[in-house]
Amino acid sequence: MSSVAEALRELHRLHVKIGGLHERMARGPRQIAACEQRLATVRQELEQTRETLKRARILADEKQLQLKSREDRIADLKGKLNTAASNREYQTLKEQIEADQQANAVLTDEILELLERIDRMEGDVEQVQKKVKEAEQHLGETRDRVAQENAALQSELEETQKELQSVETALPPDLRREYERVVRARGSDGLSGVSGNSCGVCFQTLTAQMLNELALGKPVFCPSCGAILFVRE
Ligand SMILES: [Zn+2]
Repeated sequence: MSSVAEALRELHRLHVKIGGLHERMARGPRQIAACEQRLATVRQELEQTRETLKRARILADEKQLQLKSREDRIADLKGKLNTAASNREYQTLKEQIEADQQANAVLTDEILELLERIDRMEGDVEQVQKKVKEAEQHLGETRDRVAQENAALQSELEETQKELQSVETALPPDLRREYERVVRARGSDGLSGVSGNSCGVCFQTLTAQMLNELALGKPVFCPSCGAILFVRE
């Protein structure tokens, strides 16, 4: 087997490895983006839950004020009962008092219900706060992990690229130019290992003459996809 064939095989392996490293390096930022998205979602949920709680508290305060002012009015009307000038005025006052008492009974029920709801909402806020903390922690951990992984991947990439450059020098100048052209355009698919009698990239069947030339270590290109062919081990 010629050294050119060996070099092509090795170059293909290195290009596949480099492609894989790039893919793994692209995965980290996507994972971070997903964590950031999750955090933004739960932060928004927290804001909404807090806003709902705030509005419920304001409403409860308003209802309590209303209750208190009606209670004051009832006390005032009760005071007037004793000084009623006529039976008719007395009856009117009594009716007003009863109506106010009834309204306040309804209002008291509403306030109790509202306070129970506020209790539950406070629980909801705590739950969502927990989710926010978890999302923040997860994002931090993911950032650290990705930074570590990327440092390792980066150094592996640099090593592999150095290795690639040294193997590239084994190519004759003419082939080297073709090699650079196909690899620039198609990455590792610019080199194709022959499987049986067909191109490993596009599966084009190769002629007997091509296979012969390949066996002699001559540069052969796939007539269909244009990849530089090499014999697999
Ligand atoms: Zn092909």
